[in-house]
Amino acid sequence: MPINAFLSGRIRYVISPLYTGRIGRTWFSYSSNVFSSPLFTNTSYVIIKFLSFIMREKCFQLQIKQIQDNLPYLNTQYKMPESTTKLKSRAARIYELLLAEYPDAHCHLDYENPFQLLISTLLAAQCTDVRVNLVMGELYKKYKSSKDFLAVEPSELERELSSITFFRNKTKSVINCCKALIEKHGGKVPHTMEELTELAGVGRKTANVVLGNCFGEPAITTDTHLNRVSQRLGLVDSDVPEKIEMELKKIIPPENQMMFSHVIGEHGRQICKAKKPACGECVVGKLGPSKGKV
Ligand code: SF4
Repeated sequence: MPINAFLSGRIRYVISPLYTGRIGRTWFSYSSNVFSSPLFTNTSYVIIKFLSFIMREKCFQLQIKQIQDNLPYLNTQYKMPESTTKLKSRAARIYELLLAEYPDAHCHLDYENPFQLLISTLLAAQCTDVRVNLVMGELYKKYKSSKDFLAVEPSELERELSSITFFRNKTKSVINCCKALIEKHGGKVPHTMEELTELAGVGRKTANVVLGNCFGEPAITTDTHLNRVSQRLGLVDSDVPEKIEMELKKIIPPENQMMFSHVIGEHGRQICKAKKPACGECVVGKLGPSKGKV
């Protein structure tokens, strides 16, 4: 027992020479007799064990409370403890219910061809789809291809995009993206993730939007709604878009990935809103861990 070892005479003789004063020597001499008695050591061992158990429990409860307090702000939930098979079947059930709820869910950006969707998605980062549709609806009537965008003066294009957030940087990205489309792809939008993400201003999310909507490729489009709802439903264990994409790709069949993105995004817009989710009206509430907790 550690307490016995610590209080044993041998330890006392090792450390007592360090105490040169009379009081120190007397205390050690007295205390060793009391502390090393079997009654004291056994009782104190039990008391110390009991106190450490209480403290551990208290710390654990505090940690849990801290996490629970932070949940509404983090917008995250623990991944539910379940096997991959169960997770897949839960995700399938969620998809089924959401599809029945939002059968017409679709991409919220207006487009007539892959080029328009590429440019609009690039502009929609940290901006609303409604704003982008409003601005680009008029511009696509004038600028129909990469060449048209490059023919206009950058300052003029910047002025035309000025009501979109981060319009200066986005104007540069649009110009550079159009240049690369002409130089590397003959003005056409490429069909692969690698080629798309090489274009200026195009990340995995934008590439997935184009691949899924225009080319029928399996694609998870990690916009703010999909990220939030899939976390709240405990389908993913991360708030990093790339990880969310990879985790969802493992549990959603390829042929359903695009529509899954649309319906879960729609659910995020209509019911599972960022600030006040309407859990009472949620058709998939029972299939996730967050109902009434966010
Ligand atoms: S139950 Fe609430 S938190 Fe969970 S998905 Fe539905 S609306 Fe969102």
